[in-house]
Amino acid sequence: MKKNNMRFYVTITIVKIATKILKLLGRNATHLPGWLANQLCPDFLGHLEKPETLVYITGTNGKTTVSNLTAEILRDNGYNFANNASGSNVSEGLVSALLSKSSFFGKANEKLAILEVDERYSPLIYPYMQPDIFLCTNLCRDALDRNANVDFIVDILNTNISDHTKMILNGDDLIVSHLKPDNERVYFGIDKLPRDSKARPNIVRDIIVCPDCDTPLEYDFLRYNHVGRAHCPNCGYGSPEVNYDVTSVDEEKMEFTIKTATGEETYRLLGKNITDVYNELTAITLLHELGLTYEQIFKSMNKMKLVASRYNVEKVGNKEVIMCLAKGQSPIASSRVFEFIAEQGGNSAVVLLNYDYHDDLHSSENMAWIYEADYEFLNTDSVKQIIPGGKRCYDYQLRALLAGVSEERIECALNPEDVVKLVNLSEVDKIYILHAVYTRPKALEIKEHLIKRIQKGEK
Ligand SMILES: [Zn+2]
Repeated sequence: MKKNNMRFYVTITIVKIATKILKLLGRNATHLPGWLANQLCPDFLGHLEKPETLVYITGTNGKTTVSNLTAEILRDNGYNFANNASGSNVSEGLVSALLSKSSFFGKANEKLAILEVDERYSPLIYPYMQPDIFLCTNLCRDALDRNANVDFIVDILNTNISDHTKMILNGDDLIVSHLKPDNERVYFGIDKLPRDSKARPNIVRDIIVCPDCDTPLEYDFLRYNHVGRAHCPNCGYGSPEVNYDVTSVDEEKMEFTIKTATGEETYRLLGKNITDVYNELTAITLLHELGLTYEQIFKSMNKMKLVASRYNVEKVGNKEVIMCLAKGQSPIASSRVFEFIAEQGGNSAVVLLNYDYHDDLHSSENMAWIYEADYEFLNTDSVKQIIPGGKRCYDYQLRALLAGVSEERIECALNPEDVVKLVNLSEVDKIYILHAVYTRPKALEIKEHLIKRIQKGEK
């Protein structure tokens, strides 16, 4: 037995025992087993047996939703597989997920693994275990201090993904669709929809000129940020032919149609936001590529709903309190939510609680990102109040003022709890609470207090 193999077997023994103890104590074993394994044996992932089909789901936005939706539908169809749904999407989470479905000696118990992977951690994961299928939802600027520029992420993906990996890519994202250009590939996308003609320009567009010849790209249509279909008027560069192409979205009937190589397929729409359509389409594409039929996917999709932690509406009397995930440090994710709110109309208050975890602990939030988010979308008659909470509330106030929002519509709460009393209930019928993953517990508390105020009939 080689020395490093001995180290692996000693590690897996310790980790399996530690996991059993954690479970006996009723503790979550989604991160710690992987962390311990990596500490004791840094190339641990490389020693684990790879399942027959290994899928990595990555991208700036939507990877958790796509991963969870895919997993739920597979489960509904009787599949068993390794999955990091409730765990972390960095190396430790992957190791924990694979370990939980492996034998005492690291042999894979399941033939399939569906793993959500943080794109930033590719160099720590891909060299040890390459996926058979790589899926990318989209790539855009995000968490500047952690991810740097989107070109940096593209570079680490292109450098680390094997030439033999099959790519499932967003054909409407020019940055994604050109990843690993010589690999086998399948594209999904949404064709031009009537709503695209009303699209408003965003501050950020991560690709403007042709990367091959520097000519400005011409967009056939631009949906948001750099997402849409474009071509270079000078060379052959441009959006690819899409294999799974959404041809219509019916918000009245809540259904949408996808054109595939074999015909047309209609599914129930899980959410009206265009990012909801992308997430659902992405999961359907992956499920088809894994061998599921239209009937299997259709039947299961009818049982699914959007995850309540991302978007949740609670009706209280004639008012609605709406929880929305809008990741902090992510200008594109926030802009999508802002545009969605503006499209909904009504009279609304927008409570901003998507402040940053690191800022809360270390006072180190880089606020540059709020100048890349389209606060201009909130400068509309239907948004009666913008209420930022937390110690950066005045930064958000300044940003909203620069977007043209009038001063009297912005109320600041240095203490996040104070947002509750600032909502003018006589003026608004929808209250959106935008939160980050980290601030969700606080946002839920605030939601409960707001509901009490509404129930008491306060103004
Ligand atoms: Zn060109």
